[in-house]
Amino acid sequence: MNTCENAKVPYTLENIKKCMCPKCPVQADSKCAMDKLDNLMKQYESGSEGNVPKNQDVPGVYCSTGRATCQDLYPEEQCICYTCAVWKEYHLQNVKPTMYFCQRGGAV
Ligand code: SF4
Ligand code: SF4
Repeated sequence: MNTCENAKVPYTLENIKKCMCPKCPVQADSKCAMDKLDNLMKQYESGSEGNVPKNQDVPGVYCSTGRATCQDLYPEEQCICYTCAVWKEYHLQNVKPTMYFCQRGGAV
């Protein structure tokens, strides 16, 4: 796992589920991110939901894990982190970088 050592947001299943990144327009047309999301949903459906997936398999919680590995994101669209429960819980409006963690790296 290459989660940022100083990450402010813990990499947990709970935060993965709260994360709004899968619904974000920055990722909406990313085949790479949507494939990861499909695989994640299949994993959940197969009953292995209790396991925390590897961070490289999760198209989200970039505030915890840092930049996206997918290269086909579209950062000209609006980041929706401010709509996320994790954002509110960890007061991410006060951290650097500000939003677009998939592009700018994790919140520390
Ligand atoms: S703040 Fe952004 S990156 Fe972090 S969990 Fe929420 S939507 Fe995902
Ligand atoms: S970090 Fe922000 S811009 Fe990037 S995918 Fe998540 S919500 Fe969208």
